[in-house]
Amino acid sequence: MPVNCEVCTSKMNEWEIGHGNILYRCPECGHIRRDLSCCHAGARDHAYGGSESYDRLRNSLTFRRMIRLMKKHRILPRSVFEIGFGSGLILRKFLDQGIDVSGVERNMLEIEIDAEVKKRGTLHFAEAEKYEFQKDSCDLIYGVHLVEHLDNPSKVFEGSYRALRKGGMLYLITPGGDSSGLRRFGDAWWNLEDPTHVRFFSAESISLALGKAGFKQVVVRRPIWDSMTLEINSLLRRKKHDEKKGVLHGKLVPLVHLALLPWALTARALFPKFRSSLEVAAFKE
Ligand SMILES: [Zn+2]
Repeated sequence: MPVNCEVCTSKMNEWEIGHGNILYRCPECGHIRRDLSCCHAGARDHAYGGSESYDRLRNSLTFRRMIRLMKKHRILPRSVFEIGFGSGLILRKFLDQGIDVSGVERNMLEIEIDAEVKKRGTLHFAEAEKYEFQKDSCDLIYGVHLVEHLDNPSKVFEGSYRALRKGGMLYLITPGGDSSGLRRFGDAWWNLEDPTHVRFFSAESISLALGKAGFKQVVVRRPIWDSMTLEINSLLRRKKHDEKKGVLHGKLVPLVHLALLPWALTARALFPKFRSSLEVAAFKE
């Protein structure tokens, strides 16, 4: 059955990425869709996105990056909103700066939420697509590794546009479907281990999708610092791995990370297209 691109509506091509796994790729905008029935995760349990120490590092780098971008674009945040706030650790950093925080999260029971955020933040528990964004209510909206999971990202982009005040920023981080890592590692690309990753935007498709939601200025970069062990995890995934729990399960994995990280970072520094994630900053004029 033909699959049409959810962003630009062109007919998507089937792309065999190894071991019979097939992704759908848009020839016009490079957008990728993933159907789990023809592109397997190769790990039966839900693949958790990383270790706790990597998460802490990622949260702190992401927070600092957003602060720097807001300074650069002269945004003085009074209130910020996180889509998919998880345990609330990034919201906590904003709260500690005296900024009002709110957010939406669909996992109501599974995660322990930071006590201060719980007490002082405005938290909603729903799927992002079902949340009613309040018009002109915040200066920054962000979602870290979020849009690749959503059923209907364009609805969330439109809601975010409505909720931002003039001059406000939508900030997203998501795996890049146009990363040369996906071509290099094929079905071993670690971003495929999470069965809930149903799409990978390209720089072009995310710009197009955000443009349709109203954003006129969209800046896409490929950060060197996000998902730093992804290439190493992809190598591990290509070798034998725990079919139940995925590649991060092994006891020796932290040592392998430590040994190979200089290689991975050098490759990322030399070949920006190899970097696995897209960082997107979209502004409401
Ligand atoms: Zn397309």
